[in-house]
Amino acid sequence: MTDLEKNLQAIQERVANAAARAHRDPRTITLVAVSKTFPAEAILAAYALGVRHFGENRVEEAGEKIPPVNAQAQGITWHLIGHLQSRKVRDAVPLFDCVHSVDSVELAQRIEKRAAQIGKPMPILLEVNIAGEAAKAGFAPEPRENFFAAVRAILALPHLDAQGLMTIAPIAAHPADPRPRAAFRALRELRDALSVRFPERAWAHLSMGMTDDFEAAIAEGATIIRIGRAIFGARTPL
Ligand SMILES: *Cc1c(COP(=O)(O)O)cnc(C)c1O
Repeated sequence: MTDLEKNLQAIQERVANAAARAHRDPRTITLVAVSKTFPAEAILAAYALGVRHFGENRVEEAGEKIPPVNAQAQGITWHLIGHLQSRKVRDAVPLFDCVHSVDSVELAQRIEKRAAQIGKPMPILLEVNIAGEAAKAGFAPEPRENFFAAVRAILALPHLDAQGLMTIAPIAAHPADPRPRAAFRALRELRDALSVRFPERAWAHLSMGMTDDFEAAIAEGATIIRIGRAIFGARTPL
């Protein structure tokens, strides 16, 4: 068995256990394999083991990997999970199947414009800086009325399909650090508030949880977890 195969099995088992503890069906949790910094060969190896969702965080890197992988492997859903700069929107929209990192109305409007140009509906998630960390991207969840006003503006864009929320939790300082789970709970509660305010959308998705904190995210309702290192191994800094 390869390391990749062992890693994938171990993750699937941990997802199943975390789901069972939360009385959830593990089939309601999508595993996105975060392949940033890893080559197309690693993606194809994971594909051969059944992985169909991949996450990339840089448009340029994705532009080099996605077309050759798609030429050899059908049915992959590509998730853009990293911060999207305005000038990269042009290339990002044709490449990706969904964008997790919509963090401003202006960015949403740019994606809308490009999506309209090429006639492509785009599922999106709204990234929220749920713990209010200075270095993180994302909408501020408070004041709530400002966030809701931004959501209202985004829901008016016809090519964008807002399906839920995404966050990156504070890094745990130690194993018992309650902050990651508190952040996941807060994102779920914000989603519930959105469902009340904008019932015309399903708000089905919570993209939250990474290698170090996905079990806490599943406990709080994650429907999409984004796992890199636990699948592909340590990344060498770019
Ligand atoms: C890199 C990255 C991940 C995966 O992180 P790991 O710790 O390797 O699991 C998840 N989400 C985002 C936004 C990332 O940039």
